[in-house]
Amino acid sequence: MADFVIPPPAIVSVPVAGGGAFPVRRVFCVGRNYAEHAREMGSDPDREPPFFFMKPADALLLNDADMPYPPQSKDLHHEMELVVAIAEGGVDIAEADALRHVWGYAAGLDMTRRDLQNAAKKEGKPWDMGKGFDHSAPIGLMVPASKVGHPATGLIELKVNGKVRQTSDLSKMIWNVPETIAYLSGLVRLAPGDLIYTGTPEGVAAVQRGDLLEGSVQGVGTVRTRIA
Ligand code: MN
Repeated sequence: MADFVIPPPAIVSVPVAGGGAFPVRRVFCVGRNYAEHAREMGSDPDREPPFFFMKPADALLLNDADMPYPPQSKDLHHEMELVVAIAEGGVDIAEADALRHVWGYAAGLDMTRRDLQNAAKKEGKPWDMGKGFDHSAPIGLMVPASKVGHPATGLIELKVNGKVRQTSDLSKMIWNVPETIAYLSGLVRLAPGDLIYTGTPEGVAAVQRGDLLEGSVQGVGTVRTRIA
């Protein structure tokens, strides 16, 4: 036992549907992984390899918890995403082997301080404070691949106050889940407990205090939060 000089931080975990909890190590996010979203952000989706950014594990916000409107922003955006949970780590994982590394899936929201992200982009600065702030990653219950399989198609949707804001299909990802795992594991050694937010379809927009966000990924589950 190490002689810790302060109490060690708690292990962040995501509840699993039906019981248990998935312990989280790191949270990776894919940027611009649906063509229509890349276009709405002013990029050409056809010429880009996947790129990644990160959120701290303790930015996760468990399902049904309120999300405090973050400081230093007047332009908080929703990004509805499929989240992949890694059970078995590895480096240079082959596409054909990638799904064997997956424990399960969840529906998640990559909440974004778009004003800070846009300012960072313009100045060539890091996105971290636009993306990796406190409570920026609402996530629903985790479901095991042993029960739901590996969804490659299916509706991904977000409603705000009951009105559909984002709607697309998982099959429209530019880089699918095996390709994403293969690519990311060529950049870092993936480890048990890592999550990957796989990018958002078009329709991202601002939310206000009081808004109710209800997202769903067909075959996976739902995520819900209210902006407080
Ligand atoms: Mn995103």
